[in-house]
Amino acid sequence: MASALSDRLSKLVKTMRGQARITESNVQDMLREVRMALLEADVALPVVRDFIARVKEKALGQEVAGSLNPGQALVGIVHKELAATMGEGVSDINLTVQPPAVILMAGLQGAGKTTTTAKLAKHLIERRKKKVLTVSADVYRPAAIEQLKTVTRQAGAEWFPSQGDQKPRDIALAAIDYARKHHFDVLLVDTAGRLAIDEALMAEIKDLHATLTPIETLFVVDAMQGQDAINTARAFKEALPLTGIVLTKLDGDSRGGAALSVRSITGAPIKFAGVSEKIDGLEVFDADRHAGRVLGMGDIVALVEEVQKGVDMQSAQKLADKIKSGDAFDLNDFLSQLSQMKKMGGLSSLLEKLPAEMAAKAGQADMGKAEKDVRRMEGMINSMTPLERRKPDLIKASRKRRIAAGAGVQVQEVNRMLNQFEQMRDMMKKMKGGGLMKMMKRFGG
Ligand code: GDP
Repeated sequence: MASALSDRLSKLVKTMRGQARITESNVQDMLREVRMALLEADVALPVVRDFIARVKEKALGQEVAGSLNPGQALVGIVHKELAATMGEGVSDINLTVQPPAVILMAGLQGAGKTTTTAKLAKHLIERRKKKVLTVSADVYRPAAIEQLKTVTRQAGAEWFPSQGDQKPRDIALAAIDYARKHHFDVLLVDTAGRLAIDEALMAEIKDLHATLTPIETLFVVDAMQGQDAINTARAFKEALPLTGIVLTKLDGDSRGGAALSVRSITGAPIKFAGVSEKIDGLEVFDADRHAGRVLGMGDIVALVEEVQKGVDMQSAQKLADKIKSGDAFDLNDFLSQLSQMKKMGGLSSLLEKLPAEMAAKAGQADMGKAEKDVRRMEGMINSMTPLERRKPDLIKASRKRRIAAGAGVQVQEVNRMLNQFEQMRDMMKKMKGGGLMKMMKRFGG
C-alpha cells in the first residue's frame, strides 16, 4: 500500500520550513501528492481534477495557523473538503410519507443489493421500530428471489412472494397492495441485477419507479469497483432520480475512493456503508472518517485535534520546568501523566482514529488491558501518603503491603508499577526537560 498522504507531505514540508503561507509556488508539489493519493484510492480522474481545483482555490493565500506548517495545513483543508463533498445531505432513510414508505433498490448485479435490502430491513426494524416487508422484482433469476427470502427471514422482516413468470410491475403493485392492507410501514423492493448497463433493464427499472413512486431510490454500489463506479453511477443517475447511495464492501481493502466519484456524479447523499457480508454489517455513513480512509491516514485530523485538546500544555510546561530546575520526577508527576492519557479519550478511542494498519499492529485487546492498567496504577498512587508520592524511594516492604491493601491489588503489582515509574523517571532525566515539550509539541502539532 502507498505511504500515507501525511507522510509524503511531511517529506515535502522539510523543503519549505518557515513558510507561513500556502502560495502558488509551494502548493503545486503538495497538490501533486494529494492527486496521487486520490488516484490510488481509485477516485475517478475527472472527479480528482475538479476536487484539486477546488482545494487549490481554498488553500491559496491561507495563513498557516501557529504551530502547523503548510503541509499540515493543506492536509487539514483537503480532509475538510473531502468530508464536506462526501457528507452533505441527510443520512438515514426518509420515511416521511403516508405508509407504506417504498424504497427501491438499484444497482449492478453483485453490488450487494439483496444483502443490503435485508440489512436495511433489520436497521429499520431495530433502530426505527418499523414493520417491514420485502419483495424481489428480479424475475430473471429465481435464485435471487429465494436469496431475498432467506436473508429477509434472518432480518426478522416479512417477505412477499414473487415468481419468474410475473411482470415486475405486477409484482410491485401486488406487494404495495399487501403492504397497505397489512399495515406495513416500509416496503423494500429489490430489483433485477445488471451485469452492465443494459437498455432493456434500465427501461424496466424506470417503469418500476413510475409505478411505485418510492420515497427513496437507493443506488447500491460496490466500493471495490474503483474507476468504473463513475460510469455506472452516471447511467443510474440518468435513468432514476436517486435519493441516496449505499456503498458496500467497505470491509475490503479498497480505499473507498468510489464514494467521492459516485457522490460527485449523482449528487445524492451517501447514506449507508456495507461493512460485512453479515446481516448486521451496515453502518450509517460517516463522511469524516471516510475522508481519512480515502487519504490513507485514518482519522488523523481528529486525532490531532483530540491530542491538542487533551494535552494540557500548561502542566506539561510545569513538568518540564521542574525537571530542568533539577527537581526529581516523582509519583505526583507520574499520576498527572496517567490522567492526561485518560483525558485524551482513553487509549482505545485514540486507537480507533489511527490508520487501520497501525491500529491492527497495536491490537485492540491489549489496549483494553492497558486502560485497565492505567486505572489500577492510579488506584495505587492514590493509596499512598503525600510523602511517599514525593519520595518513592521510601516505599519498602511494609509500605508496599499497605498500599496494595488500600488499592485492592497484590504486592507484585505495586512492585511492577514502581518499576514502570522508575523507567519513566530515567527517561525524564535523559530528556533534561527540553525534550519533553518537544515531544508533546510533535505529538500535538
Ligand atoms: P446483488 O446481486 O446486488 O443482489 O448482490 P448480493 O446481495 O447478492 O451480494 C453479492 C455478494 O457480495 C454476496 O456474496 C454478498 O455476501 C456480498 N456482499 C454484499 N455486501 C457486502 C459487504 O458490505 N461486505 C462484504 N464483504 N460482502 C458483501
